Amino acid sequence: AVRRPYNFSAGPAAMPEAVLSRAAAEMLDWHGSGMGVMEMSHRGKEFGEIIGQAESDFRQLMAVPSNFRILFMQGGGLGENAIVPLNLSRGGTVDFVVTGSWSTKSLKEAGRYCKARAATSNAEGGHVAIPDPQGWSLSPDAAYVHLCSNETINGIEFQELPDLKALGSDAPLVIDFSSHVASRAVDWNRVGLAFGGAQKNLGPAGLTLVVVREDLLDRALPICPSAFSYKLVAENDSMYNTPPTWGIYMAGLTFQWLREQREGELTGVAAMEARNIAKAKLLYDFIDGSAFYESRVDPSCRSRMNVPFLLADESRNEAFLAGARQAGLLQLKGHKSVGGMRASIYNAMPLEGVQALVAYMREFERLHA
Ligand code: PMP
Repeated sequence: AVRRPYNFSAGPAAMPEAVLSRAAAEMLDWHGSGMGVMEMSHRGKEFGEIIGQAESDFRQLMAVPSNFRILFMQGGGLGENAIVPLNLSRGGTVDFVVTGSWSTKSLKEAGRYCKARAATSNAEGGHVAIPDPQGWSLSPDAAYVHLCSNETINGIEFQELPDLKALGSDAPLVIDFSSHVASRAVDWNRVGLAFGGAQKNLGPAGLTLVVVREDLLDRALPICPSAFSYKLVAENDSMYNTPPTWGIYMAGLTFQWLREQREGELTGVAAMEARNIAKAKLLYDFIDGSAFYESRVDPSCRSRMNVPFLLADESRNEAFLAGARQAGLLQLKGHKSVGGMRASIYNAMPLEGVQALVAYMREFERLHA
């Protein structure tokens, strides 16, 4: 059979082929129920099984401790930029760690609900490195500290989450892990709340995953919309309103696929992480070894998921993209704010896809350098 093209979209992004095939096979009749998943009541026993399995699989995959609740919501990453301050800020001071486009947006939106301030920013150098946490100016009274643990546009990833206690702050840490959720382990000891849109690593757009420590559930402002109150959503097991049922089902299939992954002795997310390290190394090593391509991100915080790179001769950009499409390598155009190219190599991208990209880049360089 002819392989599908390799799809490097930043999101909505490629999904594991096995997951798409399974969804196709179950489209008209889920497990003999006579109904497709999109046609089921969210309160029926069939969907109850689907959401229950999805939740327990995610908890197991990501080793989520029992004092955290897993919520399936709507609103996306930008929705959470308002939903988090509505639930956690109490209208007080919130510290933002500004490392790129998404954390910048988060700070701006939160300012409508609380005293949002930048504890640090890497804007001056052009969002290419993470400022040393020892130099962050954290407020003594912050309701929480927000950071984006993988900046999808700038290609910057926290390789380790900051230990806020060690930095003198008692505030809970909120992370936007939209674009690297389930690609690596999370140190839950350092996190109060994590949120992510599903459309990069988990499933289709429309589902937002929130993992929140139980003691943070009870702080919402009175103006917080009921459907976005973490407490109400948690009390109703993500069924306060109709949850995004199709997205939950697809994420559930993805979690089952993740559980089946093996890499040597490793399984699940650990296997995925090992593979993601190898994929990213292959691509960055090639870029660094070439005078034709360039990565501007500091090697200490280069994202394993989103790899922005530039051609030394920008006039070749269109030819590069057209040739890539012909070679079955799709959606490599960079974000307009950064320019150049961006290869998003999420969990669903096999090593062979990155090898094919590197082979194409090498050949393009040979022809045009
Ligand atoms: N945060 C991050 C890190 C993202 O990558 C994105 C989407 N690219 C968003 C937030 C916004 O997500 P949405 O469009 O689902 O609101």
